[in-house]
Amino acid sequence: MSDKICNSLWRASSPAAPVLAPLEGRVDVEVVIVGAGFTGLSAALHLAKFGISVAVIEAQEVGFGGSGRNVGLANAGVWLEPDQLDNAIGTEAGSIMYKALAAAPEFVYGLIKEYDIQCEPVRNGTLHAGVGKSGLAQLQRRCEQMQKRGAPVQLLDAAEAQVRIGSSKFNSALFDPRAGTIQPLAYARGLAHAALKEGAKLFDQSPVSKIEPADNGWVLHTEKGQVHAEKVMLATNAYSEFGVKEQARKFVPIFYSQLATKPLSEAQLASILPNKEGVWDTCTVMSSFRLDQQGRLVFGGMGGEGSVLSNWATQRVTELFPILSKVQWDYCWTGKIAYSEDHLPHCQQLEKGLFSVAGYSGRGIGPGTVVGAELAEWLSGRRESLSIPTTVLRDISFRELKRLFYEVGAHTYHIGQQSHALD
Ligand SMILES: Cc1cc2nc3c(=O)[nH]c(=O)nc-3n(C[C@H](O)[C@H](O)[C@H](O)COP(=O)(O)OP(=O)(O)OC[C@H]3O[C@@H](n4cnc5c(N)ncnc54)[C@H](O)[C@@H]3O)c2cc1C
Repeated sequence: MSDKICNSLWRASSPAAPVLAPLEGRVDVEVVIVGAGFTGLSAALHLAKFGISVAVIEAQEVGFGGSGRNVGLANAGVWLEPDQLDNAIGTEAGSIMYKALAAAPEFVYGLIKEYDIQCEPVRNGTLHAGVGKSGLAQLQRRCEQMQKRGAPVQLLDAAEAQVRIGSSKFNSALFDPRAGTIQPLAYARGLAHAALKEGAKLFDQSPVSKIEPADNGWVLHTEKGQVHAEKVMLATNAYSEFGVKEQARKFVPIFYSQLATKPLSEAQLASILPNKEGVWDTCTVMSSFRLDQQGRLVFGGMGGEGSVLSNWATQRVTELFPILSKVQWDYCWTGKIAYSEDHLPHCQQLEKGLFSVAGYSGRGIGPGTVVGAELAEWLSGRRESLSIPTTVLRDISFRELKRLFYEVGAHTYHIGQQSHALD
C-alpha cells in the first residue's frame, strides 16, 4: 500500500507553508514536540502564547501526516456514541471529555478567525448519512443521546436527506450545525504560521532518530542537531512507531484514500450538496464526500489508493449521483488513520517528562486542536489533567524504550527517502 501525498488536492490548493529549515546544532527549550500536525502545532502555538519556550521537530514537512491528508470534516465530539463513551471511560470522565470535544469546532473556527488562516472554512454543518435499517437505528440513537446532552443536532428523514445531499440513496441524515469543513493542509500550515508568530521554533526535514535522558530532562537527536528539553511530547499519531510496544497493541493503522473530481458544473452543484455540508455514511466500510472551494467533489473510502479503489469510487459516486455520469478523477491520495481499541485518543506518560498522544481514530481536527491546547495548559501547570484518558506506562524498561526510539528513527528516515522519491 502506498503512503503517497504528492497527488493530493490539498497540496495543490493550499497556501504556502512557512519556510523552515532542518534542525542544526544544539537548541535548548522547555518543551519539545515531535510532529507538526494539528496536535503538535496547536500545543506549540499555545505554549508559545504562555511564554514557554517550545520547538517542533518534524520529520518531513508541516501537515505531512494525517493532518494534511484528511477529509476536512471539523466535527464535534468523538467517534463513539455518547453513551458508549460513558461506558468506555466512566460517566464522569465521559462527560468531561464529551463537553470539551463538543466545543471543538467552535475552538477550531475561533483559531482560524483569530489568526486569519486561509483554509476554506465553511461552517454549514455536517451530515452523517444513514444507510439501511441499522444505519437509521444508529442515527436515531446518536440523535437522542446527543440531544440529551444539549447538542443542537437534527435527524433528517429520507426526503430531507435527499434534498440536502442530492442523492436518493440515504434513508436519513443526522445534521450537526456546530460542525463544518476546512481545507486540512491549509489549516495545518496556518497553525504553523501562527505558532511561529507566537514565538515557537519549528524545524522540518528532521526525523528524530533517538531520545535519551539528559540533565533535567531529555535530548532528542536528528541527523544534524539535538534539542535539549525538560519535557517531550510525541505527537506523531499514525505516522511513527514511537512507544511501539504499547501502541502496537492499542493503535492499528488503517489506510483511507480520497479522490477529487474536476470542478463540477453549475447544474451539478445546484443539486449535489447545495448547502456545502460535509458528509460521511453509516456503512461499516465507510465513505465520505464533500465539496472544496473550487466545486470539486472530494470522495473518500477505506483502503490504499490504486485502480481497485478508483474503480469502486467511480461506481459508488455514479450510484449516489447519477448526474455525474462520467466522473473523472484529477487527484488521489492516501492517509493512515490511527484506530485505537476503544476508538478514543489517549495520552500516555512513557517516562517522567516524556509523553505521547495518539489514537484519534479518524476524528482529529477538533480533538487534535483541543488536545494540543490542553497539553499546553497541562505542561505549563495551568490545568491539572487532560479531558482525554491519560495513562502512565510502567511496564516498558528504559533500555527497551531506547532501542525502540532508535529503530523508529531509522524507519522514519527510510519512509522519508521514499516519499521524496515520489515528489
Ligand atoms: C485519510 C484521513 C481522513 C481523515 N479525516 C478526518 C476528518 O475528516 N475529520 C477529522 O476530524 N479527522 C480526520 N482524520 C484524522 C486526523 O487527520 C488525525 O487524527 C490528525 O491529523 C492527527 O493529527 P496529529 O497532529 O496527532 O498527527 P499527524 O498529523 O499524523 O502528524 C504526525 C507528524 O509526526 C511526524 N513524525 C513522525 N515520526 C517522526 C519523527 N521520528 N521525527 C519527527 N517527526 C515525526 C510525521 O511526519 C507527521 O507530520 C483523518 C485522517 C486520515 C488519515
